[in-house]
Amino acid sequence: MEARVLLVEDDPTIGRSLDQSLRAQGYVVTLAADGASARRALAEATPDLVVLDLGLPDIDGLDLCREVRAFAPGISILVLTARDEEIDVVVGLDAGANDYVTKPFRLGELLARVRAHLRGSDVSSQSSEITVGDLIVDIDARRAWTGGEEMTLRPREFDVLALLASEAGRAVTRERIMNECWDEHWYGSTKTLDVHISQLRSKLAQGGGPQRPTIAVLRRVGYRLDTQ
Ligand code: CA
Repeated sequence: MEARVLLVEDDPTIGRSLDQSLRAQGYVVTLAADGASARRALAEATPDLVVLDLGLPDIDGLDLCREVRAFAPGISILVLTARDEEIDVVVGLDAGANDYVTKPFRLGELLARVRAHLRGSDVSSQSSEITVGDLIVDIDARRAWTGGEEMTLRPREFDVLALLASEAGRAVTRERIMNECWDEHWYGSTKTLDVHISQLRSKLAQGGGPQRPTIAVLRRVGYRLDTQ
């Protein structure tokens, strides 16, 4: 069964973009633009994950967070906040969120967290690790190792590797990588993606471990992370 995501976001641009991106991942998404719609959506169907913007027009996002937690203790709540100072409250026992992303965020980072939370019903901070052969990618820590040796990665290289690792063995289109790892307003050449892939391939080749993965190039389609 597809995971259900309730997306509570009043900014129409962010809401629409996230809605589309989450649907593209195969999730069943309900978009609520305010607290009242979010309450109605919760009453209709219990989601597996709530992505909750704290700054809503009709209700304090923290109050809604507490309500969701009281309503269904098993739901994962991922909070979007522009307010750094609230993070302690948000993830503390008080409001009961499982995780947060500060705005502005990169789409790829948010989707990686959503995937991590939906992978298991009880996601703890340790489960942000993805293992593919001898490659370990820790999404939360933004670190990666091959055969026990830590890889030195630039931020975008990490994003691309994390995306490919989360879809290991499956083709990931160039469009999806550009969409998730670069800003949505990127109009430059996609050659920059080729450069990042080529860097990643050589870094993976230098890494340790007999089962370090390789990046297969699928002409005119995209890329796929394979174990040897
Ligand atoms: Ca808002």
